[in-house]
Amino acid sequence: YLSRELGYAEPSPPPPPNGSPASKPLGKPTLQDFQFGATLGEGSYSTVKLGTSRVDGKQYAIKIITKSHLIRAQKVETAAAERKALLRLHGHPGIVSLYQAFQDEWSLYFVIDLASNGEMQSLISRLGSLSTRCARYYAAQIADAMEYMHSKDVIHRDLKPENLLLDDAFRIKITDFGTGKVLEKGEQRATTFVGTAQYQAPELLELKETTKSSDYWAYGCVVYQMIAGRFAFNDRSDYLTWQKVKKVEYEFPNGFDDQAKDLVQKLLIHDPLKRLGAGPRGSSSDPSALKLHKFFASISWTSLWSDPAPPIE
Ligand code: ATP
Repeated sequence: YLSRELGYAEPSPPPPPNGSPASKPLGKPTLQDFQFGATLGEGSYSTVKLGTSRVDGKQYAIKIITKSHLIRAQKVETAAAERKALLRLHGHPGIVSLYQAFQDEWSLYFVIDLASNGEMQSLISRLGSLSTRCARYYAAQIADAMEYMHSKDVIHRDLKPENLLLDDAFRIKITDFGTGKVLEKGEQRATTFVGTAQYQAPELLELKETTKSSDYWAYGCVVYQMIAGRFAFNDRSDYLTWQKVKKVEYEFPNGFDDQAKDLVQKLLIHDPLKRLGAGPRGSSSDPSALKLHKFFASISWTSLWSDPAPPIE
């Protein structure tokens, strides 16, 4: 049942698009192909371990999901959604690639890109906030990955610094597609209530729907947080946080870069169609508008994934 539900009969992931630094999927996998190392982290229904492939010698993160736990926690759909979204997105440098998915009697195993420098959340906590230069670099990488994700009709629905991992070169790898939505042909919106209060868009709270634009809202919250070092919207409870979200009630701290401020103001807009990058094609806020914003004037989009990261400060 679980194999069918999770789609394990499907073939390996498709090869990455041209020029992508991600390597090609490996052959038919088994548990014996990997030597397991340290535990990298624990999720609500999974453990992530370092795994070295005996086939290609590379290091991966292996997400191990216990089947009994999955069923008990009613997370079968979450694991299936994660796998489906990752298969569709395979190959973009800013999104964790799923190389293999296999199982034994007790567990499912997802072999994914190793992001050895942890979560963006830890970086922000450690530094207090990021320099404008550093925030610009990460904002550009997230924008590029998000554009790709949306071009493949996947909505993330839980973009936040905990789900932005950093690889060995301190480049972004977006993760956690467990609440991702793969839109079917012609489908525009999703109606399940998912996400994290501080990043949830007003339309989810008011209309119970998310679209690609809701990711732009969360993205605005992330850009704000990288620079300000605190949430754009937060209060003592989720309920009180939501009241602020619905009123778009937030303030910029002194010293917040002017161009970044302009960008955030164009993203944290109540009407989903008016957010920069999320508007209809051909409008002034269409998908190309985000990368053209003046905050990104110094960004070289063509070498974004090969240029070294700026000093982390
Ligand atoms: P939840 O399932 O509750 O949403 P989560 O998304 O953090 O939590 P996992 O995806 O299982 O759960 O990740 C657990 C932890 O393992 C993460 O917090 C992160 O620190 C670490 N981790 C996850 N993926 C990777 C990866 N590709 N490379 C390195 N560490 C990772």
